[in-house]
Amino acid sequence: MEIREHFDSLARKLYGRPVNQCTDAELYHVVLQLTKDLMDKKKEIAGSRKLYYISAEFLIGKLLSNNLINLGVYDEVENILKESGKSLTAIEEEEPEPSLGNGGLGRLAACFLDSIATLGLNGCGVGLLYHYGLFKQVFRDRLQNAEKNDWIEKDSWLRKTDVGFDVKFGDRTVHSTMYDIDVVGYENGIDKLHLFDVDSLDEGLVKNGIDFDKTDISKNLTLFLYPDDSDEAGNLLRIYQEYFMVSNAARLIIKDVKDAGYSLRDLDKHAVIQINDTHPSMVIPELIRILTQEEGFTMDDAISLVSRTCAYTNHTILAEALETWPLSYLEKVVPVLVPIIKELDNRVKKYNKDPKISIIDDDGRVHMAYMDIHYGFSINGVAAIHTDILKDTELNAFYKLYPDHFNNKTNGITFRRWLLACDRPLAALLDKTIGIGYRKDAMELKKLLDYKDDASVLGAIENVKKDNKNALVAYIKEKEGVDLDPDSIFDVQVKRLHEYKRQQMNALYIIHKYLEIKAGKKPARPITCIFGAKAAPAYVIARDIIHLLLVLQEIVNNDPDVSPYLKVVMVTNYNVSYAEKLIPACDVSEQISLASKEASGTSNMKFMLNGAVTLGTDDGANVEIHQFVGDDNIYIFGIKSDEVIGHYEKADYVSRSYYEKSPVIKEAVDFIIGPQAMAVGNKENLERLYNELLNKDWFMTLIDLEDYIKTKDRMFEDFEDRDKWKKMMLVNIANAGFFSSDRTIEQYDHDIWHLS
Ligand SMILES: *Cc1c(COP(=O)(O)O)cnc(C)c1O
Repeated sequence: MEIREHFDSLARKLYGRPVNQCTDAELYHVVLQLTKDLMDKKKEIAGSRKLYYISAEFLIGKLLSNNLINLGVYDEVENILKESGKSLTAIEEEEPEPSLGNGGLGRLAACFLDSIATLGLNGCGVGLLYHYGLFKQVFRDRLQNAEKNDWIEKDSWLRKTDVGFDVKFGDRTVHSTMYDIDVVGYENGIDKLHLFDVDSLDEGLVKNGIDFDKTDISKNLTLFLYPDDSDEAGNLLRIYQEYFMVSNAARLIIKDVKDAGYSLRDLDKHAVIQINDTHPSMVIPELIRILTQEEGFTMDDAISLVSRTCAYTNHTILAEALETWPLSYLEKVVPVLVPIIKELDNRVKKYNKDPKISIIDDDGRVHMAYMDIHYGFSINGVAAIHTDILKDTELNAFYKLYPDHFNNKTNGITFRRWLLACDRPLAALLDKTIGIGYRKDAMELKKLLDYKDDASVLGAIENVKKDNKNALVAYIKEKEGVDLDPDSIFDVQVKRLHEYKRQQMNALYIIHKYLEIKAGKKPARPITCIFGAKAAPAYVIARDIIHLLLVLQEIVNNDPDVSPYLKVVMVTNYNVSYAEKLIPACDVSEQISLASKEASGTSNMKFMLNGAVTLGTDDGANVEIHQFVGDDNIYIFGIKSDEVIGHYEKADYVSRSYYEKSPVIKEAVDFIIGPQAMAVGNKENLERLYNELLNKDWFMTLIDLEDYIKTKDRMFEDFEDRDKWKKMMLVNIANAGFFSSDRTIEQYDHDIWHLS
């Protein structure tokens, strides 16, 4: 059946009306069904070896437009709607965004699934179906409040399967059901995202906000992603969730291998498991347990087989983010795994007494990452500098033991979502200028370099950016009620709120600029500072930083002396859908983490691809972006990672000395507790943040602040040299090809998975 006929018949079947008489909300469900029908006709990707990408997060974003693009029918569907006076963009707004991830790690997993299917690789994602996912952010009295994110509709991308398993905890047994979301590759077949849910879940457990009984495991297990873990019950719940995830994953893998008629002895030939960060680490002892207790394997054979099947990706060197669970907690939740984990630890201790590499430390805590490294065949970092730091410092003892296991896989992003879908005008311009080859082979973006002195192409790139800025201005006006000037410089920092990402440094710049303008020093062009960030509800200082940003928004935007030159807006509930609107409209991409702390970053890649210029430290993938575009097309500032590491080793960083030395720093920091801020904000939040900056500043904001101010001002001056700036935009777009997740996935496959 033609798409057009199918469309019409679906509208009549579902709503008894032709397309032109349906509402946008109804049409969303019509297009959803149409897309699912088209996906059903695609072949499922198969093979004798399969990847299981296990992850606590899959931040997939809305799926409608991406699926239509990958199916190759976006334009056709758009035209059919247009003929009936309807807009596909408006219909996309009706789709709820799945709330299955938190930040970069979850978004990476989603980009990877897209690339795995696009490359025709036999793989799947395995995770949990969180009914309320990550919280929804609202602002009240300039503070972040958390609400439940009710994203699952009756009719959605989720398909209930008849697969389900019993999962036995120390104190109870629950039963699971597997739900699938189809992942269609770009001009390719279908892979699956498998999400496990607990059958006994009770959504009614959530009373107000995001509060619920953390001990009622059978009813709460899949309510939220990353429930508050500031108390013991919260920690236990996270272990329950993790074991539920990996127990289901292990059962699924064994079922798949057996259903295909293979021997479990050949597990490593037919399955490869990628452990995405440490949340799925218990899959290792769980598989060993099943093989030895249920399948007749000796301990030696089981350990060796599982070790040849599992690979681990490290996403952070922040010590506090590397999970360690007290053995006593594991005893409570999963007593059956404890003897296995002790056995794995004993084997390590037998041949190496170095306490730095023990799985179980002297305090009885289990280091999940260490278990992954000892009992997996690969460990990778996610950008060149990050992997080097793992090898040279953080995990050096392990690197000496297993040098061949360490490898780098610099992160990437799917260009289908982050260019073809979110920046259609830019994609159209690229099609016209360099042909469509870049859609399949991202390195072809380099062809754009031939036009770096072509005034008409440069002008067209500038016009695309202008149009995208206008669209964002309208969107922010509608969502946040804030008026922005589309001719101002759009300076954007969107990412999770964390001290190492240093949103507070950006805030101090804004204070500095505000004071300068008050003193009569006006910028050549107005500046708009845009933020988007959620803070973990239990992360007090992060919430204080959000408070400061909202206080600054209030002060700056309402000051008639200043607001014509400077505006601040913190958008509400930053998520993938918001990112898709912000990134194409950005001029300056803020990537200002303390060097050595941002493992890779991926928003830096998205911004670059959409023609923003990076203002960043020598950190994560910024380092590689810098290498690709050269010194003239990026603004790098701040101390380098070896200096940072040196300061930590010597414990010689004293933030107060920078405050006392520099009148500019002093003035900006003092403003946080000055009368203007206090008149708008809360004493408690502002004083706490002020004291933190002055007396601790663990992520060394003040050490880099002056260089940051200087570099940012120079960048804003350069923005006025329009020819220079347009060329920088072009060079950034042209060099983004390396950061396609297709390249990343090809490397994972070539070096680790061996699927093709
Ligand atoms: C890409 C992305 C991230 C990761 O951003 P970083 O700046 O790399 O930390 C986080 N959240 C969303 C919604 C994203 O799209």
